[in-house]
Amino acid sequence: MSRTLIIGAGGVGRVVAHKCAQAPEIFSEIMLASRTKAKCDAIAAELPRKVATAKVDADNVPELVALIKDFKPKLVINVALPYQDLTIMDACLETGVDYLDTANYEPPDVAKFEYKWQWAYQERFEKAGIMALLGSGFDPGVTNVFTAYARKHHFSRIDVLDIIDCNAGDHGQPFATNFNPEINIREVTARGRYYEHGEWVETDPLSWSMDFDFPAGIGQKKCFLMYHEELESLVKHFPEIKRARFWMTFGESYLRHLKVLENVGMTRIDPVDFQGQQIVPIQFLKAVLPDPGSLGPLTKGKTCIGNVVQGLGTDGAPRKYYIYQICDHEEAYKETNSQAISYTTGVPAMVGAAMMLQGIWKKPGVWNMEQFDPDPFLAELAKRGLPWQETFID
Ligand code: NDP
Repeated sequence: MSRTLIIGAGGVGRVVAHKCAQAPEIFSEIMLASRTKAKCDAIAAELPRKVATAKVDADNVPELVALIKDFKPKLVINVALPYQDLTIMDACLETGVDYLDTANYEPPDVAKFEYKWQWAYQERFEKAGIMALLGSGFDPGVTNVFTAYARKHHFSRIDVLDIIDCNAGDHGQPFATNFNPEINIREVTARGRYYEHGEWVETDPLSWSMDFDFPAGIGQKKCFLMYHEELESLVKHFPEIKRARFWMTFGESYLRHLKVLENVGMTRIDPVDFQGQQIVPIQFLKAVLPDPGSLGPLTKGKTCIGNVVQGLGTDGAPRKYYIYQICDHEEAYKETNSQAISYTTGVPAMVGAAMMLQGIWKKPGVWNMEQFDPDPFLAELAKRGLPWQETFID
């Protein structure tokens, strides 16, 4: 019996709930809890079997502990926001329950993506005999596992890693974000950063770009260099890597709107005084932008996320290799009422949870995805809706 508590009922929470509900042989009992219970109930009503729902404030450790003690899960899947990672980890420690998330902790008042806060729980989780799996989404998540798979099967040494995230979907809106607007805009407007010869090199936000020819009819797109959290764990766990970068595609309209919003101060994360009240501009902006959930039925096209890996092949010769996954927005929506961005995050969260609950990936402590055997994860990922491909580049 593997009782699972899912926290967060947004786009990703919806997909996780659908995918877990589809696999009763692994997820015997499910509870979906979030700040707004009505959102959990709406998702529960779409599912093929009965799932419990609850209201919880995940910033409040005693409230989380009470809920966990009441439902008695084996695992908590955190798909709320990165701000809640540490409180949910604290509650898991107090109750002796395993933990999984899809994004690293970020303090609300500083746009800083770092694993240091969560890695600091390593000893306490190990001592308590419980496990935390960090970043089990697509990027971070599958991109970490792709790197481990490349290293295990095709490379004796990785020199260069480029993770390339393309959303070639179109929702027809002049400006909207595909997941939580606040988290998305904080990430995109942050300074770029990549890793080279043991050092982090900073760039101005979205100031570096390259063209990449994507498969599956997507074609050539402009990709922008950004900092992304999986770079930190990957260069730690594969110290041979000489250069690691992350790239993401953005459309003209998105970039133009973002520039204006930034220039007028609407992306600020510090509070400002408005008619005697303190408001954070980016939070107000979130309230007026389209809800990412509402884009599901409107979005057409595909996503393509993958890794280009260069280094020495297992035969000792130089090798260049591309491993990637293509996901169709409309297919994702048909299955889970969510577009491909939520789908490509929610499916790996469910697969990571399945690895833990079945004891395939199981080790007390706090771990990143690349620290486990990639093969069972990637086999399950393909089976659960995200088949992937690999090719060698001449
Ligand atoms: P949403 O904003 O759609 O959903 C977040 C959910 O968390 C909402 O239901 C929200 O409740 C709930 N929530 C927020 N604060 C609290 C709180 N204090 N207590 C309880 N519930 C709370 O986000 P997404 O579904 O798009 O993203 C979920 C997570 O997935 C994020 O951490 C995001 O960074 C991550 N992500 C990871 C990706 C990857 O590839 N690794 C890609 C995309 C996202 P309410 O509705 O009431 O506000």
